[in-house]
Amino acid sequence: MTQSDAQPSQDPAFEAAYQAAREGLREGGIPIGAALARGGMVIASGHNERVQNGDPIAHGEMSALRAAGRQKSYRDTTLYTTLAPCAMCAGTIIQFKIPRVVVGEARTFGGEFELLRSRGVEVVVLDDQRCVDMMRTFQEENPELWAEDIAE
Ligand SMILES: [Zn+2]
Repeated sequence: MTQSDAQPSQDPAFEAAYQAAREGLREGGIPIGAALARGGMVIASGHNERVQNGDPIAHGEMSALRAAGRQKSYRDTTLYTTLAPCAMCAGTIIQFKIPRVVVGEARTFGGEFELLRSRGVEVVVLDDQRCVDMMRTFQEENPELWAEDIAE
């Protein structure tokens, strides 16, 4: 069974984030995707583009938020991401007052759950095996690129 054949999530917004990550992988980038949704409807999705665009800030969450454009309020939105958010993305989630984050997995990168929760953000972890497999394979094949992405 290939990764793309693995059991899909029931949530279309999470699926949009996952498909964005796959698109990033096909482009030769880091396979992390995200989507911003309101009331179950996807506003926009995006993926990590630091390799494609030479942009160190273009994490998946940042790309999805940029693609969504200006929003009057984020208080009724949910941010979906295939991987636990880093400090930069967690800070942006807090800054925009996004109340809820749904995370594909936190096994390959622990992220900043404590920071998010300390600021009242609800964090849901799906522990999606496809996301774990995708990141493990990427990290094994591209250790330098991965270390650069998380500044280690
Ligand atoms: Zn990030």
